[in-house]
Amino acid sequence: MEEEEEEEEEEVVIVGAGIAGLAIALALERVGVRSLVLERSHELRASGTAISIFPSGWRALQVLGVDHKLSSIYPSYNTVRSTNLETGETRELSLTGTMDRVGIGVRTVHRKVLLHALAEDLPHGTIRFSSKLVSINMEPQEDSSSNVIALHLDGGTIIKAKVLIGCDGVHSVVAQWLGLSAPVDSDRSAIRGLAEFPEGHGFRFEGKQYRSRDKRAGFVPLNDKEIYWFITHDTSSRERESTRHPRLILRHVTHFLAADFPPTFLHVVGSSDPRTVTWTHMLLRVPRDLLFGWTHRGCATVAGDAMHPMTQDLPLGGCAALEDAVVLARHLGPALNVSPRRPPAEVEKAIAAYVKERRWRVAGLVAGSYISGWAQRGGGGVMSRMWRWVVRFVCVRVFARYVSPRIVDAINYDCGNLNTVD
Ligand SMILES: Cc1cc2nc3c(=O)[nH]c(=O)nc-3n(C[C@H](O)[C@H](O)[C@H](O)COP(=O)(O)OP(=O)(O)OC[C@H]3O[C@@H](n4cnc5c(N)ncnc54)[C@H](O)[C@@H]3O)c2cc1C
Repeated sequence: MEEEEEEEEEEVVIVGAGIAGLAIALALERVGVRSLVLERSHELRASGTAISIFPSGWRALQVLGVDHKLSSIYPSYNTVRSTNLETGETRELSLTGTMDRVGIGVRTVHRKVLLHALAEDLPHGTIRFSSKLVSINMEPQEDSSSNVIALHLDGGTIIKAKVLIGCDGVHSVVAQWLGLSAPVDSDRSAIRGLAEFPEGHGFRFEGKQYRSRDKRAGFVPLNDKEIYWFITHDTSSRERESTRHPRLILRHVTHFLAADFPPTFLHVVGSSDPRTVTWTHMLLRVPRDLLFGWTHRGCATVAGDAMHPMTQDLPLGGCAALEDAVVLARHLGPALNVSPRRPPAEVEKAIAAYVKERRWRVAGLVAGSYISGWAQRGGGGVMSRMWRWVVRFVCVRVFARYVSPRIVDAINYDCGNLNTVD
């Protein structure tokens, strides 16, 4: 039997109810613009269990008015003890330097709690679940004055939108439609999990990191009873084909990847609920595409991982998605929110201004994250001993002196304010 096509019209449609989609819906709501969020899952979905939010992200959450919901339940930390497993040297690093303008430090929070904190401030009916976008085309409006964007959903519904914001993650349908090239493989994977200690874990509230030539691992407490851990490593061809069952992934970490890591790390990993363990193959958008590619077309654009997927050597992708929300609403609000309605050209200009403001920032983060991972590993891939020595020299001298302060700047970035309406 053929599916019946239903047609609807909406002013602003956001695709994806992840961090980016929900934050954008909320930021638009704060400036008086209603939107519809389409989510393919049947509920709010968070893969990865926990996320660290740095001052740049807190600043955005503050502007969105939801920071207090999280800061009241998650303790902050500002220090990471990083151990080089090859030399045994441990260094204490301040994550935010002396520039933490928000004064909130870094907090690691449950992803689901973050999503709910954003979603519960949206008007009822903003999120439409089980609504998967499958294709997009541009159609002229009935009076031929401008185009509308026709969104075809799984199940036959067509939604005609004036503004489209793709927040549909790394394999974004919207990014593909805009003409952005597909994200590239970083050849790195991340395994993450949540360890549970019902009687209390007894660790200090600080990050712990271990570095070896081709791996980086660490853990950080969320609260007195839960610890978020991760390990990133070069993906082997065998791993690409292997099963992703959580118990097997855990075994792979304890018996292979981290077999020679300190017992403390293995103890944390061994205390995980296998259901919280995930394996992610890390992709990134080539910065050139962000700077010169099709990040917007007419009244359509992308945000979050749909725009700027990055490796997580600088774990700032989620924070950047929160910043996107504030910047987009700051530009789009005035263009959509005046009476009589401004012509589409004004909205197009607003979207172009959003992209202009974001593209250097996010291209810098994508590049910085990749280079940071590469440098932490002392270079990577197949290199001669001589070349590896040169890379190590560059890493120690140049990276520590010139790049690290920029990372501290990036963490403390201020995305600015919104002119909110009450
Ligand atoms: C290992 C790892 C660790 C990380 N750690 C951190 C960290 O500590 N701090 C930090 O700031 N960032 C971190 N990040 C990055 C962060 O997780 C992402 O940048 C962030 O989750 C991106 O959010 P998003 O909303 O753009 O995308 P997503 O979270 O991927 O959300 C996309 C949403 O769109 C929906 N969707 C997809 N396709 C469709 C469709 N066709 N139709 C309808 N809906 C659709 C999906 O179901 C999903 O709900 C980490 C990432 C990784 C991989």
